[in-house]
Amino acid sequence: MTNTHQHGGHRKLLRQIREIMAAEGSAQKRLDGLVEAIASNLQAEVCSLYLRRPDASMELWATHGLAPTAVHVTTLEAGEGLVGETVRHARPLNLPDAPGHPAFSFHPETREDPFHGFLGVPVLRGGRLLGVLVVQNREARHYSDDDVEALQNVSMVLAEIVSSGDLLSKRELEKVALRPIRAEVLSGLRISDGLAVGRAVLYAPGRVHSDIIADDPEAEKQRLSTAIADLRRTVDALYQGKGNRLGGPSREVLEAYRMFANDQGWLDRLCEAAGSGLSAEAAVERVRGEHRARLLSAKDPYLRERLHDLEDLANQLLRHLGAIEDIEELPEDTVLIAREMGPAGLLELDRSRLKALVLEEGSPTSHAAIVARALRLPVVGHVTGLLDRLSTGDTVLVDGEKGIVSIRPDAATEEAFRALVSDRRQRRVAYARLRDKPAQTRDGKRITLSMNAGLRVDLPQLEESGAEGIGLFRTEFQFLLSDHLPRQSEQMQLYRDVLEAAGDKPVVFRTIDLGGDKVLPYVAHERESNPALGWRAMRMALDRPGLLRYQLRALIEATARRELNIMFPLITTLDEFRAARALLDAEIKRMGRFGKAVPSSVRVGSMVETPAIVWQLEGLLKDADFVSVGANDLMQYFFAADRENPRVSSRYDILNPGALRMLGHIAKLCHNAGRPVSVCGEIAGQCAEAAILIALGFTELSVPPAAIGPVKRMILSLDQKSLGTKLAKWLEDGSDQITGESQGSIRTNLLAYAQENGLPL
Ligand code: PEP
Ligand code: MG
Repeated sequence: MTNTHQHGGHRKLLRQIREIMAAEGSAQKRLDGLVEAIASNLQAEVCSLYLRRPDASMELWATHGLAPTAVHVTTLEAGEGLVGETVRHARPLNLPDAPGHPAFSFHPETREDPFHGFLGVPVLRGGRLLGVLVVQNREARHYSDDDVEALQNVSMVLAEIVSSGDLLSKRELEKVALRPIRAEVLSGLRISDGLAVGRAVLYAPGRVHSDIIADDPEAEKQRLSTAIADLRRTVDALYQGKGNRLGGPSREVLEAYRMFANDQGWLDRLCEAAGSGLSAEAAVERVRGEHRARLLSAKDPYLRERLHDLEDLANQLLRHLGAIEDIEELPEDTVLIAREMGPAGLLELDRSRLKALVLEEGSPTSHAAIVARALRLPVVGHVTGLLDRLSTGDTVLVDGEKGIVSIRPDAATEEAFRALVSDRRQRRVAYARLRDKPAQTRDGKRITLSMNAGLRVDLPQLEESGAEGIGLFRTEFQFLLSDHLPRQSEQMQLYRDVLEAAGDKPVVFRTIDLGGDKVLPYVAHERESNPALGWRAMRMALDRPGLLRYQLRALIEATARRELNIMFPLITTLDEFRAARALLDAEIKRMGRFGKAVPSSVRVGSMVETPAIVWQLEGLLKDADFVSVGANDLMQYFFAADRENPRVSSRYDILNPGALRMLGHIAKLCHNAGRPVSVCGEIAGQCAEAAILIALGFTELSVPPAAIGPVKRMILSLDQKSLGTKLAKWLEDGSDQITGESQGSIRTNLLAYAQENGLPL
C-alpha cells in the first residue's frame, strides 16, 4: 500500500471514529465500535483500549478480538506488561514479537498468548496519560509508520472526547484517572511572601479549541506552514533583538527556539500529523503532547530543559494558529499557574482577582519577582511538574513564606490554612493601628523606619505603611521593567512622581545598580563567569558614564529647588566614590550654566556593600554625607555565599558573631564621625535581625513596606540598652555562648532573651 493510499484509509478511519463517537448510545457501545473500526482499518485481529484508574492501574475498557468477558475484569498493575511498558516510555511501542519482550505478561482470561504483533500507543492529553490503545496480530508483524500515526491520531481524538467528560457517565468517570485527584503538597522557591487561597487557572495551557479532525488535509497543511513561517519570523526577530518584550525568553532559550523552529524532524512530524487528517491545531497538540510525555520521563535536566523550550515553541505555534488566547479576564480568587511569567504580563493582570502566582520556573531575582513583591502578590517558583499536576479549577493554597503549594487539599487542611490567612489579615489591621505611632524603644531610643521602593506601584505604600520616607529607591527597576532604555524625560517623570508622592518625607535615590543578575534585555552584555563579582553597579557606571550622566541630569531636574539625596551602589574604593561625586558636581554645574533650576541642597551618600569599603570607612566618611549598609550584598561578600543560591545563602546566619562585629564596627565609626548611617538590606525588615541592628547602635532602618508594621511592633517592646548589653556579652566570647546547633550564630541566645523579655520577633 502506498503512503497516499494509507493516508486516505487512515483519514477515513478518523471520520469513522468521529461518527461513532457522535452517535447515540452508551459509552460502552461507542468504545466497542471504536476498537472494532480500528481493528478493521489496521487489519489487526485485536484492538483493545485500556484506561488508567486513579491508582495508576490499567483497566481493559473495550476490546475487539480478546474475550469480551475480560472487559472491566482485566486490570494491569501500574507498569505491568507491555501496556505498562508503553506507559513508562509514553511513546508507541511497536513489537513484531511481543512474547519475546522481557516485559510481556500473560493474562489467560484475555486469551492473548498466541499474538505476536503488538502496537501500543499512549492516550495522552496535555502530557498526562489517560490510557493505552493496543492493536495485536497473531502473526509477527511490524506495524508501518503510518499505522503508528493512525493509532496516535485516534488516541488523540479519544483523549479529547474522554476528557471532555461527554462520553462517560459520572460514575464511569470516577473510575478513570482523567486528572490527578489526590491532595499533594509541592515545594518550591520563595519568590514573594504572603499567603493565599484560590482556584487554579492554567496560563496558556495549550488547549485546542478547534475541531480535531479536518476534512481537507491539504488546507490544514497550508495553514500549518503559514503559521510555521510566521513563527520563524517572530523567533528571528526576537533573536535579532527586535521587539523582545521584557521578561521574554533569554538568549539561550531563543537559540533553542531557533534551532527547533528550523528542525526538520519536528516540522516533518507536524506536517505528517496534519496530512493524516488532523486539524493543524490538533497536529501541533499531538506532537506537543508526545514531547511533553517524554519530558515527564526524561531524567537528564538538559534534555528536560530543551523539551520545555520545544513545548513553548509549540504553544507559540498554537498562538499563531489562533488556538490559544491569552487570559484577559481572570475569575475571582485566581491562583495563576504558569511555567514562567514576565513582569509586563503580571502588571496587565487584574490584581483584585489575582490572589497568587505559582511558577514551574521563576527566580527570586527575576523582574516578575520584583513586580510581584511590589504588588504584594504571593509567589512560589521552581515547582517541578506543576502544570501536569493541576487542572483549572483545582483549589490551591499558596504559602509564599515557606515556598509551599498545597493542591486539592482536604477540608481540614484548607480550613486550617484559611484560619492562618485570616490571622494574617487581623495582624495587618493591628499593624495599621500603629501607623502613626513613632517607632521608639521602651527605653526611649527613637528609630527612623523608612521603606525601600523602586516602582510607581510602591508609592501608595508610603502613606499606608506609615514609613517615614524612602530610604532606598532602586532606580534600576525602571530600566529593568522597560523594554527600551528609558529616556531622560521618562526617568525625570518617575523621580518627580516619587517626590510628589513623598511630600515632605525624604527620598534617597540610589543610582542605577545594574549588572550582575540585573541585566537589561535591550543592552548587549558579555556573559561573565562570576556576575556577582563582575562588571556591575558603579564599575559599569564609571566605565561608561553616559548612562549615569543622563540619570544624574534627570535626578537634578526632578529635584529642582528641593533637597537631592543621592547614593552610589557597590562602592569598593574611595576613588570610585570621589569619581561618582565629581560627575554629579559637574552635572549640577552644567545645569546651572544652562540657567536651569538646581536642587536647593545635595546630600551624597555611599552604600556600604563590600567588606573592602568597611575597612576604608573612616576615609569614606570624610567624603560621604551619609552611608547605607546594603546588607544583602555585604553579607554575600562577607560569607562568600551567593545571595541567590539558597543552597549556600541559607548556610550562614547573619547573626554570626563575625558578621555582627563587622556591623557593630560600621555603626561605631559612623557614630564617631557624626555621619548618618542606615541599614537597607532585607535583614533590616526581619524582626530578630532588626532588634540586633538596633542593639548594635543603628537607629535608621529602611525596609520593605510590609515589614514596617512588624518591625515597629518589635521596636515598641524592645529595651535597646538591655539587649545591647546582652549582645556585647554574647560577642565577647562567642565560642562559649554559642551552641553547636545554632550554626555559629547568636540566634538561640536572642530567641531565649526575646521569650524572657516578651519581645515579639
Ligand atoms: C543590598 O545589597 O543590601 C541592597 C540594598 O541592594 P540590592 O538588594 O538592590 O542589591
Ligand atoms: Mg546591593
